[in-house]
Amino acid sequence: MKTIQDDFPILSVLENGKRLVYLDNAATTQKPLAVLNAVESYNKQDNANPHRGVYELGARATKAHEDSRSIVSGFLNASTDEIIFTQNTTESLNLVAYSYGMEFLKEGDEIVLSVAEHHSNLVPWQRVSKVTGAKLVYLYPDAFGHLTEEELDQKITSKTRLIAVAQVSNVLGIEIPVASIVRRARKAGAVVVLDCAQSVPHMPVDVKALDVDFAAFSGHKLYAPMGIGVLYGKKEILDKMPPFLTGGDMIGNVHEQSSTYAEVPRRFEAGTRNVGGEVGLAAAIGYLNSLGWDNIQNHERDLMIRALNGLAEIPHITVYGDLSPDKRHGVIAFNVEDVHPHDTASLLDSDGITIRAGHHCAQPLMEYLKINSCVRASFGIYNTPEDVDALINSLKNVRRWMGYGS
Ligand code: PMP
Repeated sequence: MKTIQDDFPILSVLENGKRLVYLDNAATTQKPLAVLNAVESYNKQDNANPHRGVYELGARATKAHEDSRSIVSGFLNASTDEIIFTQNTTESLNLVAYSYGMEFLKEGDEIVLSVAEHHSNLVPWQRVSKVTGAKLVYLYPDAFGHLTEEELDQKITSKTRLIAVAQVSNVLGIEIPVASIVRRARKAGAVVVLDCAQSVPHMPVDVKALDVDFAAFSGHKLYAPMGIGVLYGKKEILDKMPPFLTGGDMIGNVHEQSSTYAEVPRRFEAGTRNVGGEVGLAAAIGYLNSLGWDNIQNHERDLMIRALNGLAEIPHITVYGDLSPDKRHGVIAFNVEDVHPHDTASLLDSDGITIRAGHHCAQPLMEYLKINSCVRASFGIYNTPEDVDALINSLKNVRRWMGYGS
């Protein structure tokens, strides 16, 4: 019988002579044949520069570009003119920071972030703060990694103009209370920017139901190619925003001394687009829809239960954040006592198991947790109970390999 694993050619590649146990899905995911074939077919049959050629091939490329936008808009429950293609989450968030933040924020305003933000949802806001004088205010999770109502009440005030938060942290794996945040934002008159890089691979995200103003994600964490990302923005807000990058294809008319700009979303899509990547992203969404979200979530929940139970049986391991499998989406960050995370990851690599070690682009969170770094196992649709068992069995040996008795 055909399995999901058969759809992912890389899973049959041997690592150090061993079966690849790929558990670094929060860094990037592997690509199924549906995506690889769609990109290849676009490049073999339809490649041209969209919105430029009047010839038939150009029309096919334009159609591929706009059809992909339409599939992404359906995926997020947005309108097509609210979907901007970018390179990745980082570019999407920078677009909001530079185009919205630099334009509309000023001294006396407050920008609310969580201390668990990925650097790509933190450093751009530091730039905005420096240039505009708006102040950065941080939300701190409780001992289980949750943002409490009291914390939200304290930090989201009448001065708050923008709240930029990850729906799911790429370290703690815990979903934040988006509805509570949006409710307070509406009262304060603030906009909400949701970083969905770690949430979209693990749950359906409906931007209309969430009522967020912006949402960003990367294709490469969603089984699509690298180099393609998405920014959703509410049309009425995007309409007010100046361009981020300027140049070809984002203009109305250009004169020697001035230019007019295209309507959204093209105003924010300067230069030649990554249509192959867009087609790949649309194919990835089609692939996930064919698996079904209930199946994906049940499968990943089973993996999470197995992994958390297995980790609980190993002495000297500290897992960060809430230990309930229902609260976690795809990620378990932990440390083995007295063992440097890089040693843990290298030892597991010799067993063909790939996990990430480091600060995971979340240095303020590491400081808050009072650690320098940690290891992170992260799961995806093709992981199996055997992958989890391989992780647990290998981890059982780590302290012994490092010379400790147990
Ligand atoms: N935010 C979160 C929560 C992430 O997990 C990541 C990727 N690890 C990013 C932002 C940045 O994504 P990219 O590097 O694709 O721009």
